[in-house]
Amino acid sequence: MHTTTPLHVLEHTFGYTAFRGEQEAIVQSVCDGEDVLVIMPTGGGKSLCYQVPALVRQGVGLVISPLIALMQDQVSALHELGVRAAFLNSTLSYEEVQDVEQALLQGELDLLYVAPERLLQPRTLQLLQRAQLALVAIDEAHCVSQWGHDFRKDYLSLSELANHFPGVPRIALTATADERTRDEIIARLGLEWGRHFICGFDRPNIQYRIQQKDKARDQLLLFLRQEQEGNSGVIYCLSRKKVEELAEWLSQRGYNALPFHAGLPAATRQRNQDRFLRDDNVIIVATIAFGMGIDKPDVRFVVHMDMPKSIEAYYQETGRAGRDGEAATALMFYGVEDVVKLKQMAEMSEANEQFKRLEQQRLNALLGLCEVVTCRRQILLRYFGDVLETPCGNCDNCIDTPKTWDATTAAQMALSCVYRTGQRFGTNYIIEVLRGANTERIRQSGHDQVSTYGIGKEHSVAEWRAILRQLIARGLLAVDADGYGVLSLTEAARPVLRGDTRLELRYDNKIVAQDGKAKTTRRPRLLDDIDEADMPLWQALRACRKRLADEHGVPPYVIFHDATLHEFIIHRPDSESAMLAISGVGDQKLKKFGAEFIEVIREAGYN
Ligand code: ADP
Ligand code: ZN
Repeated sequence: MHTTTPLHVLEHTFGYTAFRGEQEAIVQSVCDGEDVLVIMPTGGGKSLCYQVPALVRQGVGLVISPLIALMQDQVSALHELGVRAAFLNSTLSYEEVQDVEQALLQGELDLLYVAPERLLQPRTLQLLQRAQLALVAIDEAHCVSQWGHDFRKDYLSLSELANHFPGVPRIALTATADERTRDEIIARLGLEWGRHFICGFDRPNIQYRIQQKDKARDQLLLFLRQEQEGNSGVIYCLSRKKVEELAEWLSQRGYNALPFHAGLPAATRQRNQDRFLRDDNVIIVATIAFGMGIDKPDVRFVVHMDMPKSIEAYYQETGRAGRDGEAATALMFYGVEDVVKLKQMAEMSEANEQFKRLEQQRLNALLGLCEVVTCRRQILLRYFGDVLETPCGNCDNCIDTPKTWDATTAAQMALSCVYRTGQRFGTNYIIEVLRGANTERIRQSGHDQVSTYGIGKEHSVAEWRAILRQLIARGLLAVDADGYGVLSLTEAARPVLRGDTRLELRYDNKIVAQDGKAKTTRRPRLLDDIDEADMPLWQALRACRKRLADEHGVPPYVIFHDATLHEFIIHRPDSESAMLAISGVGDQKLKKFGAEFIEVIREAGYN
C-alpha cells in the first residue's frame, strides 16, 4: 500500500517546500478521485497538479499531450528527479515501444505520456485497459475547442475517455482564458460534475512595456545592453526577412542571436532551438512560428519588434517569459505603420461581416492596450475577465505615468491636411506636407499651395507619427484597404475639426532611445540581487550546471533553476541536509548533483 502524501512527494521528489496557490487543493481533489478542470496561466505550475497525484495514487498517470517534441524533454526531466516516466509516440522504434509497454504492464511506470492520435488506436486502448491507471491528465485541453486557436481533431475523441476508463479521475489543464473555450472544454470532456479551478491570469513577475517605435533596432540594443546582458530571450518579428536581418545585426554586435522561422531548413531550426534550450544566453529572433512547445523556464525577456495581431496572441507570446517566476520583461515596439497595417488587414479580410466586426473589436482592444495611459495589466486582465483592483506597479505606465497633452490644434492640422490633399495619401506624405517638405512630389501635386502646407513645423516627424497613430487608433482617421494605407476622415473627426470637442493625446516624447539610466523596476532583477563579490561564485555554479547538463544530455534548467542557484549563493549550503533545505533540491538531485555543487560552494569559501 502507498502511504505517501502530496507534501511528501513535493518535498522529496520535486524538492519544493510548498505548493503554489491552488496547486494544493487541485492535487488533493485528484488524489481523492475527483474529475478536475484547471485553468492556470503559463508558468503557474500545471504539471505538478497531475504529477504529484500520479505519484501518490496507485498505478500510472496517463498524460495526453499534443506536443510530441516536448515529451522527450519532460520525460528526461522526470528521470532526473527519479520518477519512472516514459512516452509513447511515433518517434519510438518498435523495440522501444515494446519496452514501454512491458514496463507499463508490470507496474513499473509512474507517468506515461501519449499523443492523442496514438491513444485512440485500438492497440493502445487495449494496452491501457490492462494497466492500472492512477489518473488521466489532458494537457493543453483547449485543443478540444473549435472556437479556440489550437483546435486538434484528435482531441474530439477524448470525450470517450470517461467510457474507456470509468472510475479513473480525469484532470484537464490549459492556460487559455476565455469563457467560450472553457465552456467547450467542459462540455466536450464531460467535466460538468467535476471541480473547476479557475486561477487568476496574472503573471506578476512579467513587466509589461509598450514603446513607440523609432529606430527600433537602437531601442532594442539599448534594452539589451542596459537590462539583459547574458540573458536568454525571444524577439518576435513579423516577416522572415526581418528575422534574418535582425539576427545577423545582433550577431555582429556580439549577441548569440539565432533566427527561427518556418522557411528555414528543419535541421537549422532544430539546431537553433536546441542551442536556445541548452545554452544559457541565446536570443532567438523568430516569427510566431516559434514558441509552441518551448518550455524553457528561464526566458528573461520577450520583445515584439512589430505589433502582434491580437491581445490573445500578445498574452500567449509574452507568457513565454519568466515561467520560473523570476522577474522577466515583455517589451513591445509599435508605431503608426503597425496600426496602418493591422487596420488594412482587418479591412481586407474576406470573412463575412460578423467575423469582420469581431476582428475589428479585437484590433481595437489591442490598440486600446497600446494607447492607454493607466495600468496596462489592469487592461490586459480585464480583457480576460479578471479584475485587478489596484494598479500593478510593474508596467511602464505604473512605473512612469505618461503625460497627456491637449492635442486639439495639432489634430485639427492633421485632419484638415488629410482633407486638403484630397484623402489620397498615407501618413508619410501627410507629415511631409504638414512640415513643409520641399519635394518634387509635393510641388508637382501643388500641395505646397494648400493652407496646411508647413503649418506643423513645431512638431518633429516622430511627434507627428505619434499623433497620426493615435488619430487612427481612436478612429478619427480611417485606413483604406488598398495596400497604400491611404488616410481618410471619419464621422468621428467632425467634432474635433469643428472645435466642438477637445482631444487629449498621449505624450510620447521618450521615443528616441535615450542614454542614461534604465527605468527603475519595482521587482529586483535576479542578477542585480547578486553582490558583485558573489559573481565569481554565480559563474562557477552556472559552469558546473552546464557541465552536468551536457553530461546528462539535458538543458541546464533541468539540473537546477536559476532560482535554486541563487539560493545556493545566499545560503551557501555545505552539507547534504543544508542542501536539501533549498527549494528545487529533492532526494534524487541531491544524490546526483549535491556533492559537485557543495564542492563549488566550498571552493568559493565564505566571505
Ligand atoms: P505551466 O505548465 O503551468 O506553464 P509548469 O508546470 O511548467 O507551468 O511550472 C512552471 C515552473 O514552476 C516549473 O519550472 C516548475 O518546476 C515550477 N514550480 C511549479 N510548482 C512549484 C512549487 N510549488 N514550488 C516551486 N516551483 C514550482
Ligand atoms: Zn501597471
